Amino acid sequence: MPGDTDVVIVGGGLAGLAAARRLHRAGVPWRLLEAADRVGGRVATDEVDGYLLDRGFQVLNSGYPRLGGLLDLATLDLGWFTPGVLVRRGDRLHRLANPLRDPAGTAGTVAAGIGSLLDRLRLAALATGCATLPVGRLLTAPETTSEAALRRAGLSDPIIEELLRPFLSGVFIDRELETSSHVLAVTLRAFARGRIGLPARGMAALPRAVAAPLPTELIEVNTPVAEVAPGRVRTRTGDISCRAVVVAVDPPAAATLLPGLPPVRMHGFTTYYHSADRPPLDEPILLLDGERRELITNTVVLSRAAPTYAPAGKHLVATSVVGPQPLPEPVVRRELDHLYGRSTADWTHLTTVTVPAALPAAPPPQGRLRKPVALGSGLFVAGDHRDSPSIQGALASGWRTAGAVLATLRGGRGGRP
Ligand SMILES: Cc1cc2nc3c(=O)[nH]c(=O)nc-3n(C[C@H](O)[C@H](O)[C@H](O)COP(=O)(O)OP(=O)(O)OC[C@H]3O[C@@H](n4cnc5c(N)ncnc54)[C@H](O)[C@@H]3O)c2cc1C
Repeated sequence: MPGDTDVVIVGGGLAGLAAARRLHRAGVPWRLLEAADRVGGRVATDEVDGYLLDRGFQVLNSGYPRLGGLLDLATLDLGWFTPGVLVRRGDRLHRLANPLRDPAGTAGTVAAGIGSLLDRLRLAALATGCATLPVGRLLTAPETTSEAALRRAGLSDPIIEELLRPFLSGVFIDRELETSSHVLAVTLRAFARGRIGLPARGMAALPRAVAAPLPTELIEVNTPVAEVAPGRVRTRTGDISCRAVVVAVDPPAAATLLPGLPPVRMHGFTTYYHSADRPPLDEPILLLDGERRELITNTVVLSRAAPTYAPAGKHLVATSVVGPQPLPEPVVRRELDHLYGRSTADWTHLTTVTVPAALPAAPPPQGRLRKPVALGSGLFVAGDHRDSPSIQGALASGWRTAGAVLATLRGGRGGRP
């Protein structure tokens, strides 16, 4: 049939796009089929009345190792967050400098009562180890949950409950901190080595930049794949024959297309967007609830990092909650009054974005964060669920899977059955 090719990539999220980039560089014929009307998958931005509303609050960590080979970060015109966090406890806001980037800066926090001096030293030691040890060593260390790893590092209950659980539950979308200690280690490493930012045109600029060097005619949007089989992909308009298929869809869709894959549990995430005339904080820094109320995971004035996220004279605040069940907005607003220490009555609720399947759960064992991607007979699988649950995991997985495809094609295996 016309359009037959060597490799069909199913799914144009970051994993599918990274796979396409590697195949394209190798000169192997490929096509990418994407169900939605745009590439990017879970990294998406809606522009509404001059606000840039990402489909769920997310950020780009410049320390992700796979980014550099795929794009020039300067093209994203990133607006940066202030390193560290603010923590609300009682009538005070406590600042915690990023202990990974600024170990001395944590002293103020200790004085302010979040954790003890010993906690500070132990957190800095944990972070320094993650930042400096070879990744291979981090990923062969005994594996536990993140919570067990924090306790094993000697961190006290107060610093875990008032700082680390609120912070990490927003990163892993996992309040229980059951996420593998290996995922924790590579995450702390990225925080240590990079900065957190937002592209001036919204997070969707990231997949656009990864796709930019690819020929647009090879990326077919509005093309859901109904079925994959060795050497064949079925779409609404017919079958495409190929030598290899890369299934780079989200985990729930992967379970449908590849029923033999072990099921992946997904964590849900809800983000409330508010517009404010007067920003509640003068800087772009994540604000956490250090009082164990466990309602709001974090809140931040996005337009302080990237002014393009709001129209002139307005500010955009993103407030996130772990879980797919949105809290009633008035409850969120009451919590925000408390967290920011001022009335939010004059804010406008723009929208609530609920993502029921935001991030794959990654409990131990995750091993070296490299689940098998070659399923045999020319079928391959890629996505954040094969590596680690993050932008880095998706990009690394797509790149790695394309490498496995190339090895198979060159070895003459995985040809048309
Ligand atoms: C709200 C939220 C916040 C996040 N925050 C962060 C963060 O701050 N930092 C971070 O590193 N990561 C974050 N992540 C995670 C990160 O966005 C994902 O790990 C990553 O985007 C996953 O990419 P992927 O390519 O593996 O999958 P996806 O992005 O899900 O891409 C899969 C693609 O396959 C397509 N597809 C599905 N079925 C079919 C089919 N049958 N035929 C054709 N196409 C199909 C889908 O439409 C989609 O485009 C967040 C995610 C969410 C949702």
